[in-house]
Amino acid sequence: MARHSALPPVPDAAVLRARLDRARATAAGTGLVIAPGSDLRYLIGRAGGSFERLTTLVIPADGAPALIVPKLEAPGFDGLPLADLGVEVVTWVDSVDPYRLAADRLGGSERVAVSDFTPALHVLGLREALPKAEQVLAGPIVRELRMRKDAAEIDALRKAGAAIDRVHARVGEWLRPGRTEAEVGADIDAAIVEEGHAEADFVIVGSGPNGASPHHALSGRVIEAGDVVVVDIGGPVAEGYNSDSTRTYAVGTPRDADVSATYAVLQQAQQAAVDAVRPGVTAESIDAAARDVIAGAGFGEYFIHRTGHGIGLDVHEDPYIVAGNDLALEPGMAFSIEPGIYQAGRWGARIEDIVVVTEDGVEPMNKQPHDLVVL
Ligand code: ZN
Ligand code: ZN
Ligand code: ZN
Repeated sequence: MARHSALPPVPDAAVLRARLDRARATAAGTGLVIAPGSDLRYLIGRAGGSFERLTTLVIPADGAPALIVPKLEAPGFDGLPLADLGVEVVTWVDSVDPYRLAADRLGGSERVAVSDFTPALHVLGLREALPKAEQVLAGPIVRELRMRKDAAEIDALRKAGAAIDRVHARVGEWLRPGRTEAEVGADIDAAIVEEGHAEADFVIVGSGPNGASPHHALSGRVIEAGDVVVVDIGGPVAEGYNSDSTRTYAVGTPRDADVSATYAVLQQAQQAAVDAVRPGVTAESIDAAARDVIAGAGFGEYFIHRTGHGIGLDVHEDPYIVAGNDLALEPGMAFSIEPGIYQAGRWGARIEDIVVVTEDGVEPMNKQPHDLVVL
């Protein structure tokens, strides 16, 4: 239990104070109830943990923010500049009604916005304590803050991107015929940490027919010569920002004759989407840039997901690169570009890089070549 690892780095108090101020301004009269997780980490520097006992940051429309936390969980927030931030720490013990404490802080708010991933237990507890307040999702408010990354956040994404690139550069050490996906995945998992992540968040090794299932994780399937293998991996660096990168490998010459021509279409589609990124274009136009190439080559029905997702403290966050999202891209937005072509029962391929919108174009966080990696 007692692991003396260093606590994750916390942004400067001035940065956090500005985020709290912007949260209140963006909420525009709505009270905010922020659950443990990435929203809390973004606003006060630590994610905390979500349990049956209520921990929450309450940001009332007027008045000081308060971190309501069970007394026994309070040490988990040691070392944060909470006093500097003007955040009052309100501890509670069992037998106290914590929803009452939150409701008192929120006063007469007519609307209360709760973090998207708040457990229903706490949402309904709060509703009972504030029966007259309308409850709405905090997602649309918080995403306005989190979607545009500042220079330090982009640095952390760069660091994560370089770290996962180093792991992809080593995949040939582990991916061989006769080994299972799970064995290869365990080696990749260890390398994700060795190469500079705080932990591995996910490891997908989709070999042969499993590569046609985009979110296949790992299995006992034994890798065979001729397999095409989708390797999609990532995790957070110490600052909390995530990597997420996919490359497609072939174990020797692919057994299916259609791999190289199909892969060429995928590579062209991924590049077309990256090349289309700049401020002012819509998220859906980036999706269309990839999809048009794939559909034009006759593979439209085999590209079964959106082109990408935003990334930051969460692996999946706004902005989503999907048809119907007419959000105009702005400098600092970070997201994946990850088209795939999935031949059910045979093989699949995906190429995924994280990119950041710059003042006049795009900066990829991942620099590994996009070619099919033949081992
Ligand atoms: Zn995914
Ligand atoms: Zn991925
Ligand atoms: Zn992704």
